[in-house]
Amino acid sequence: GGSGARRSISILGSTGSIGVNTLDVVEQLGGREVFDLVAITGNSNIGLLAEQAKRFGARMAVTADELNYPELKQAVAGSGVEAAAGPDAVVEAAAAGADWVMAAIVGTAGLAPTLAAASRGADIALANKECLVSAGDFFIEAVRKGGGRLIPVDSEHSAIFQSLEDDQHHAVERIVLTASGGPFRTWTREQMSDVTVEVAKAHPNWSMGLKISIGSASMFNKALEMIEAKHLFNLRPDQIEVIVHPQSIIHSMVGYTDGSVLAQLGAPDMRTAIGYALTYPDRPKLNVERLDFAKLARLDFEAPDEARFPALRLARLALERGGIQGAVMNAAEEVAFDAFCQGRIGFLQMADIAEAVMEAMVGAPAATSIDEVFAGDAEARRRAAEIVAQKEMAA
Ligand code: NAD
Ligand code: MG
Repeated sequence: GGSGARRSISILGSTGSIGVNTLDVVEQLGGREVFDLVAITGNSNIGLLAEQAKRFGARMAVTADELNYPELKQAVAGSGVEAAAGPDAVVEAAAAGADWVMAAIVGTAGLAPTLAAASRGADIALANKECLVSAGDFFIEAVRKGGGRLIPVDSEHSAIFQSLEDDQHHAVERIVLTASGGPFRTWTREQMSDVTVEVAKAHPNWSMGLKISIGSASMFNKALEMIEAKHLFNLRPDQIEVIVHPQSIIHSMVGYTDGSVLAQLGAPDMRTAIGYALTYPDRPKLNVERLDFAKLARLDFEAPDEARFPALRLARLALERGGIQGAVMNAAEEVAFDAFCQGRIGFLQMADIAEAVMEAMVGAPAATSIDEVFAGDAEARRRAAEIVAQKEMAA
């Protein structure tokens, strides 16, 4: 900053909830005067992708879906924005020269592009937690080799990152991930058994994409975040705690060997974590809600219930087992999530399917390459799809 040169950035998944919030932060911090937007990528919302590209003067707009190419090309015609399409084009855009890349594609679809950006040495602002859940060690290694920074965007992990004192990692005893508990925090399993997508996606505090909203209801999102935390902060499984905190004001905490606990608090607004990742180690000036403690009056905490939310138990299993169990859990759950959204299985069956696939693949050898991670992911998907079909026949 200050030298007149604009900062080059790219946003993978610019049309999603995190992507839109990222562009809001970019706008608040000066927009195209300050940032050189190298590439933005999306999938199906071509109208929004083209509008973003034109408004922020992106050099490149890429849709992951080849079928959308004609629409995108037409929408950016004459604007100077280059259009491209297909999964390989998304990877190429990720590898193009931006210094800072927001990884905000949802699911394992984000892994190859984010790895490409990391390997090229970009600073990675990581929202796409599935990268770490599936390919943890390989992803961390790609970042290390590339030489860029890895800055968490997930609110819990941003909170931990902000609460970790420099040079005091040896004194970290535990981290405490807060969880809102989602819309079914007080529900029985019986009540959850026949909920629809519409009911499950209504998160009490945060406004987010569909996958993570459903994952908040099932607490699968917290399960992914436990594994994400292990890799980001190099923790043992027994150092990772989850506490239900319905107000989502404390975003997470770090406990030290002297009994101190440091926390980061804020309004439930992803722009704080995004802004922190964009200007780290500085803090930006952001127009977001300020906490009014007198109005808040109280913060509540409850122990999580693994019987009602088995995803948390599955995450523990994946953490303890290691190997490709994280990739397997994530892939099976993605398939089960799609099936739930299509009305093919019930809400509670998502965890059943993830568990069945994890058990079936418990003996699979640890991956020795990223290709083996992808192979494990593919096998887990195949097995999960089989179970979905069986459950459908039985219903
Ligand atoms: P979203 O569904 O709102 O957006 C997803 C983005 O990915 C969109 O731009 C979409 O076009 C793109 N995309 C979808 N399928 C794709 C594919 N096959 N190939 C390439 N691009 C594809 O999701 P979101 O809520 O913004 O979440 C994005 C990521 O950030 C997820 O990993 C999520 O867990 C994480 N995250 C989100 C929030 C939040 O507040 N929304 C908070 C923490 C972490
Ligand atoms: Mg989170």
